[in-house]
Amino acid sequence: MSVPAALDRHLRDLLSSGQVRCVLGPAAGCGPRGTAHLARTPEAVDRFELSPLACANVLVHLTSEEARRDDARRPVAVLARPCETRMLNQLLSERAIERDELHVVGLGGCRGVIDSRKLRERLPELRGFPEVREEGDTFVIEGEGMEPVSVPRNELLLDRCSGCDISEPLFHDHTFPLADAAPTSAAEAECAPEPSDEGWDYWADQFERCIRCYACRDACPLCYCEDCVLDRLRPMWVPRSVSLKNNTAYQLIRVLHLSGRCTACGECEQACPVDLPLLTLARKMEQEMRELYGARSGFDPEGRHPMSVFDPNDPEGTDFEEQGR
Ligand code: SF4
Ligand code: SF4
Ligand code: SF4
Repeated sequence: MSVPAALDRHLRDLLSSGQVRCVLGPAAGCGPRGTAHLARTPEAVDRFELSPLACANVLVHLTSEEARRDDARRPVAVLARPCETRMLNQLLSERAIERDELHVVGLGGCRGVIDSRKLRERLPELRGFPEVREEGDTFVIEGEGMEPVSVPRNELLLDRCSGCDISEPLFHDHTFPLADAAPTSAAEAECAPEPSDEGWDYWADQFERCIRCYACRDACPLCYCEDCVLDRLRPMWVPRSVSLKNNTAYQLIRVLHLSGRCTACGECEQACPVDLPLLTLARKMEQEMRELYGARSGFDPEGRHPMSVFDPNDPEGTDFEEQGR
């Protein structure tokens, strides 16, 4: 069993009593990042895994086309770390999911998850999904045919975890601790990255490398429009050929559609095959929204995001009367 006994019992009860029709959460996979798992029977609960390595993009499976068409998935219980409850809040505020179809099993005391790319760089010989133990400020990694290796936590944490300021779920129906609460070390707190202020030359170099695979769009739980402007042929807003001009148009459309909604979860960056610094863009966007509108996405399930609000008294708004419209 890979989840604590009390949580295991709770998930089985939810399924056997019919309170939910399935449970969505992380599981071990064939690679070091794990995978998302949908348990439809109590027996399938066995596969869930809460190791700091099991950090597959779970929430995208709530808003994907397949999920929205599959009524047999709802109501659904979700195993959610604190940052994931922030994303759930944002999805609720947009009515992308309904509260009465969602049972949130919050995972408290989160100290962060491991970036599988950093792990691969540090231990290229690693295969499959290794065992991970947390010992103070160190991760102890034990892979197949390998002696255990100790690596300082701050060398492996996902960038989104550095500087994370929510260690408890923002809301939940039930909550379970991930581990005994442990204070964040000074080393982790110090490495919180600031949003970048790089100029156009830097971003032009980055956008030029984009191969327009759209993996970043497909990985984002908030990119769920059924009719995405990027897929349209008439009119074709962004030509399909890869060039700095077209890539920039794509990135600007993506960023603007997500401004005020993006929760800086970093899943887009994790999905990018050419390692574009997309979390840097997301953090910059988040900073601008806070400074300009005092808005922080995902903290209010009733909230409206600034780019969707029209205020007829806006002093900078269009004066329709003056224009005779
Ligand atoms: S961002 Fe925060 S809540 Fe999310 S996995 Fe990292 S430390 Fe945990
Ligand atoms: S960080 Fe990326 S994947 Fe996450 S919400 Fe923002 S745009 Fe979407
Ligand atoms: S995932 Fe990376 S390469 Fe693919 S479209 Fe997004 S930014 Fe470009």
